[in-house]
Amino acid sequence: MSNFNIQSILRENIKNLTPYSSARHEFKGKASVFLDANENAYGSPLDKNFNRYPDPLQISVKEAISKIKGVPVANTFLGNGSDEAIDILIRAFCNPQHDNILILPPTYGMYEVAAAINDVEVKHVNLNSEYQLDLEAIAETIDEHTRIIFVCSPNNPTGNSIYREDIETLLANFNGLVVVDEAYINYSRQKSFIQELTEYGNLVVLQTLSKAWGLAGLRVGIAFASEEIIEVFNKIKPPYNINQSSQELALEGLQQVDMVNKWILETTLERDRLIEKLAELTFVEKIYPSDANFILVKTKDAISIYNHLADHEIIVRDRSKVSLCEGCLRITIGTPAENDLLLESLNNYK
Ligand code: PMP
Repeated sequence: MSNFNIQSILRENIKNLTPYSSARHEFKGKASVFLDANENAYGSPLDKNFNRYPDPLQISVKEAISKIKGVPVANTFLGNGSDEAIDILIRAFCNPQHDNILILPPTYGMYEVAAAINDVEVKHVNLNSEYQLDLEAIAETIDEHTRIIFVCSPNNPTGNSIYREDIETLLANFNGLVVVDEAYINYSRQKSFIQELTEYGNLVVLQTLSKAWGLAGLRVGIAFASEEIIEVFNKIKPPYNINQSSQELALEGLQQVDMVNKWILETTLERDRLIEKLAELTFVEKIYPSDANFILVKTKDAISIYNHLADHEIIVRDRSKVSLCEGCLRITIGTPAENDLLLESLNNYK
């Protein structure tokens, strides 16, 4: 991307912003008495150092992520879930009532919600019948106020990965940010885009500890991008956006690579088994290929199947009212025992 310039799309008020700074973390000397942040010096009732504010830049957690992913700390932002990163991107680059973002439905709902909250227009270009990008329609829809395209790959709720060459086409031709949301990348047969950060200055890759890492409760999401974009994130984020407890526990969780890899393998094997078994059911019309830890299943009577499963205390996601997902249920891959219960319940349907 030769002529892409982050500053050209950054909102003026953000350019001139002086972020709230933590005096402690800016202090370069040696200190042992901390009377700078109005904390409770006597301690915490929890027998932990929770009376102190956490590291605003979460360096230890980022270093652990960097070791695993091979992306430098300077190219990493941590958010209170990747949802926070989505919100910050829109706030940084889209002027309310002036700029717009492009989303590619059916897709993850928070892009639209975050834009609506920030009073930013949302343009839509549906995925095609194979749930892939319609590049022609995208090119026609983008205008001079389009600042961000959100591409979810593997896509939620359809489960498929978006063709790499198509994302590369967007990156090479769009004069704004291309955000590739890889929340489900660990379950994918496709390679992550994090290796492309040096190639494309307009690329932001979102990942999260909420899925394969099994840490949804901690609320830790990751954005990988150029140093210039990471600086923008750091200007806007609340100073202590990842709490001390989440930082400590994320660091601990990130040591468990073997456990996580075992779960990923098991999930993908169970995904194959579920796809095979679901295909035998007469009321299942189509099972979409999945690179994620869920599958989209088109059925003859989604609502009634949903209710039948709910009667058996099994909750799946009804997507049957979503445009291009008519009749579909989105089913998360459970443990083998949970998947057996699902299959047993479906075998008893009608
Ligand atoms: N992106 C996608 C595609 C998702 O499905 C989700 C969660 N369902 C998120 C982002 C948000 O994840 P989190 O905020 O937990 O990191």
